[in-house]
Amino acid sequence: MRTCSGCRKKGENEEFIRFVIHEGKPLPDVARKLPGRGFNVCPSYDCIKRFVKKQFKGRLNPEDVYSETFNALKNYFLHLLSLCHKTGVTVIGQDNIKKLKDGREGILILSSDLSPKTKENLKKKGFFPLEDVFSSEELGGAIRKETRIGALFVEKVGLGRKLYEVGRKLKSLRRED
Ligand SMILES: [Zn+2]
Repeated sequence: MRTCSGCRKKGENEEFIRFVIHEGKPLPDVARKLPGRGFNVCPSYDCIKRFVKKQFKGRLNPEDVYSETFNALKNYFLHLLSLCHKTGVTVIGQDNIKKLKDGREGILILSSDLSPKTKENLKKKGFFPLEDVFSSEELGGAIRKETRIGALFVEKVGLGRKLYEVGRKLKSLRRED
């Protein structure tokens, strides 16, 4: 069991974002591989803010730590996505996704430039949705370069499990604005 350094909530390793201290600053250890003492923090803006206030007492701006963490997690997600694609567990494009059986376990990634109507339609399939975190260029770049991808499904098997887990963190970390 781990404890959140922001709100003291207890949970398993994979529920938290791990930080290590590097040159006096918190570095998000998104792959949980860096050596040294780690701090576990819930994937939420509030907990990151509390953690920064407690550990760095006014020396660091929580906003900066939040955006660095969000970007690091985004990049890690795209890296995992490109690895997942190589193992053949990705389903690309609305038409192919619509053909899938409803309720399969996996993550549905919807780019920020899809129309609200298309998003609603695809969400009816009952997959875990991650919306508006990535643009279609970012998704395209991770998969096959120079192509926009609006919608993508990755089954929760093998590396897809890891992707799902990171996707959940991104969703919980994202602030509605
Ligand atoms: Zn917390």
